Amino acid sequence: MAIVKKTKTAQETWEEAQIWHKERNGIRCDLCAVNCFLSKDKVGVCGMRKNVGNSMVTSNGALKAMVVDTVEKRPLFHFHPGAKSLSISGDAPDNWRIEHDRLPKVGRSMTPEQVVKMAEKEGVEVISYTYGEPSLFFEYMAKVAKLAHRSSIKNVLSTTGVISEEAIKRVAKYIDAAVVNFKASGNPEFMASHQVIKSPEPIFDALKQLKKQRVHLEITNTIIPQIGDNVESCTKLAEHIVAELAPTVPFHLLQFHPTVEKFSDLPFTPMSTLEACAKEANRAGLRYVYIGNMIEPNDAENTFCYNCRELLIQRVSGNLKKNVMQKDRCSGCGVRIDVVI
Ligand code: SF4
Repeated sequence: MAIVKKTKTAQETWEEAQIWHKERNGIRCDLCAVNCFLSKDKVGVCGMRKNVGNSMVTSNGALKAMVVDTVEKRPLFHFHPGAKSLSISGDAPDNWRIEHDRLPKVGRSMTPEQVVKMAEKEGVEVISYTYGEPSLFFEYMAKVAKLAHRSSIKNVLSTTGVISEEAIKRVAKYIDAAVVNFKASGNPEFMASHQVIKSPEPIFDALKQLKKQRVHLEITNTIIPQIGDNVESCTKLAEHIVAELAPTVPFHLLQFHPTVEKFSDLPFTPMSTLEACAKEANRAGLRYVYIGNMIEPNDAENTFCYNCRELLIQRVSGNLKKNVMQKDRCSGCGVRIDVVI
């Protein structure tokens, strides 16, 4: 695809984008639930897509971060435990960040072929599209994912879920697993004040579409103290997952860390709040509920057999320590555990 224009923005080059349509006096982006209308020369809310000559263009291959880690860091606990991952991110504004860790910066362009070559050289089983919302570098991600599959490397999306069903359908055959990240349980009041979309409905639609496309799913929920720690909202989200997806979808309750500029005056989420949410999520019917992103290691990031309570997979601070499963079965009672191996 040709590079169509050089600009002075953070993204050095732009290329023709997918998933948009023409309207009277402009174009509309159909990539995410914001559905921006862009008249000539206007840039979308995400800052990543632009109307140039009544066509949509997008940034091209400027990676912001790249690191070799494991799928547990996404967090993905029921998909090839311990699998090594090349985790990459394009550019993304703060509102679209998924993880806020300090990461090795790349800050240069790499072609999709170079990324897959790097993955092969590192001997990874998975490429993860993460840190910044991957749909914001959709075209690039789709190219990398397609090439990765050709090299028998799996692809993992870590997303806010603000991605349209159309976009999911286009890329689904190359995506093996997805982690969809909620904040404050998708509480509409919280979303209206702090997020780019004002209701969780588009995220629920994306989840349904991912399920339909048979993508392995896990869900995270960052519990934000004072402004997004309502246990009832968390229970509602858990009930929705049980009813609309499956009781076997792993649910990760994440501790909030005040490293995000916007909320730096808030405390860490207390363990007692996370435990109250976990108890209700279990009661709502979810089989695998975890507490993660904690500064102190805790037992709630381990996988236990839902039938006999045998400890099957032990993790410490998101790192795999021990796995005693017999393929996908409990080593104690033999029941099948919902883990992709
Ligand atoms: S990806 Fe979303 S925010 Fe960005 S231009 Fe498209 S609709 Fe707007």
